[in-house]
Amino acid sequence: MPPRSALQAAEADVLVVGGGPAGIGAALAAADAGADVVLVERYGFLGGNATAALVMPWMSFHTRRPQPPRMGDVSLFPTDHGEGEPVVAGKHIEVIDRLVQADGALLPSPETGYTVPFDPEVFKQVALDLLDGAGVRYLLHAFASGVRTPGRAGEVVFETKSGPVVVTARVTVDCTGDGDVAAAAGAPFELGRGSDGLVQPMTLMFRVVGFDQGPFERYVTDHPDQWRSVHGLWDLVEEATAAGDLDLPREDVLFFNSAHPGEVAVNSTRVTQVFGTDVFDLTRAEAVSHRQLSQIAAFLRDYVPGFADSYVAQSGVQVGVRETRRILGDYVLTGEDILSARKFDDVIARGTYPVDIHNPNGRGTVLRSVPPGDAYDVPLRCLLPREVDDLLTAGRCISGTHEAHSSYRVTPTAMATGQAAGVCAALAAAAGLAPRQVGIAAVQAELIRQGADLGPHGDDVVGAPDRRVVP
Ligand SMILES: Cc1cc2nc3c(=O)[nH]c(=O)nc-3n(C[C@H](O)[C@H](O)[C@H](O)COP(=O)(O)OP(=O)(O)OC[C@H]3O[C@@H](n4cnc5c(N)ncnc54)[C@H](O)[C@@H]3O)c2cc1C
Repeated sequence: MPPRSALQAAEADVLVVGGGPAGIGAALAAADAGADVVLVERYGFLGGNATAALVMPWMSFHTRRPQPPRMGDVSLFPTDHGEGEPVVAGKHIEVIDRLVQADGALLPSPETGYTVPFDPEVFKQVALDLLDGAGVRYLLHAFASGVRTPGRAGEVVFETKSGPVVVTARVTVDCTGDGDVAAAAGAPFELGRGSDGLVQPMTLMFRVVGFDQGPFERYVTDHPDQWRSVHGLWDLVEEATAAGDLDLPREDVLFFNSAHPGEVAVNSTRVTQVFGTDVFDLTRAEAVSHRQLSQIAAFLRDYVPGFADSYVAQSGVQVGVRETRRILGDYVLTGEDILSARKFDDVIARGTYPVDIHNPNGRGTVLRSVPPGDAYDVPLRCLLPREVDDLLTAGRCISGTHEAHSSYRVTPTAMATGQAAGVCAALAAAAGLAPRQVGIAAVQAELIRQGADLGPHGDDVVGAPDRRVVP
């Protein structure tokens, strides 16, 4: 291919690619640590899966209670979390606080199953306000397609309506979810589970309005086996399937209350054996999942009490992609680390969400919990890609196995690893070092100064202030 010329769009200490939960956390944290930051996002708005794919609510970041909810618990936030300690703080809590102030979210509580229901439209505005307030510059409508020099991520090429543009930075943070920059720079990665290389299925989420909770609650009270800890409505799904009204590759229907009365977020389409880094698979997934959406919307109206007058108000701008590249770092977090709540000296974030694997090949979901009252650590080494020195990863593309990924992929942990990557990037840029040369003590001290929660280890960091806790 002949060489192309490109505009130099910006130069910065820290370049954050991707404006999802991890990218927002990274950009805010790097700016807070004193860096000049540019964030670049492919869409015309921020929020990543939370806005583009309507992924709601944000999962609990609290330790698990000893007993799962009782069968027939009518809460439309069916998780087995909460009643324990929050383990994510810092930028994630700042975002939640701002959303709540803007009437765009509910605080985690027993009523929300300790999840955070939020309004994606409000989140788009809050994210912009937060970046503006922190002095982060951003470029929207720009898709990272490559790097100028193999093995380096300091000059990233973006495709835009103005033609190709380049952003130059001392340190880059890959928050694309797919590890697009890391892969382009030559960092090694894994894709899919060990046995057959398949990834978790994709799901097109959608918002349904006109829901009347009263009749639904009465139905669940009368049929307590239909709605328990996580998924529900098995009998109705079976009946509709037998009648030829539903043909889904999953056995249940799952939905959550949103931040607004009369509205639910439906998480029930499933497209298996598709890869989010393959444009042909993405095209097929959109077509298949939109057909499933129509079936599910009709099923809710025709079969499920409380939905008779409901309709689909909005579907995701794109199908939700759970899992793609896992960029190999200096440490690979494992499912065993998650399930044993393993602690690391170089902790930079913590998680409590279970190993949650939607069957890559069909029906069923594997759920295995972190021990009650405990949390696992994510070490900084998972954010340091092998073979590319001027780069960090954050969010769902960090270094871990298929099993570990199924836990740390959720929004609160993604925002926490984003904050850590942003801090490490800012310190590296200021000192003229590669991220892996920055001392872990300095990263942890800055994270603690920014209000992050590093668990018991954080209490040992000199000068650690009291951690913020959600009321
Ligand atoms: C169907 C589904 C249901 C889920 N359910 C929940 C749930 O209930 N609760 C929960 O907390 N989590 C849930 N998750 C997980 C969670 O939504 C994501 O894993 C989380 O958003 C990860 O954040 P991230 O910033 O790493 O990646 P993403 O949210 O994927 O953000 C990546 C950002 O980078 C941008 N980008 C990508 N490639 C490029 C490029 N080449 N150039 C420029 N920009 C680029 C994208 O547009 C996006 O803004 C779910 C995910 C899915 C798909």
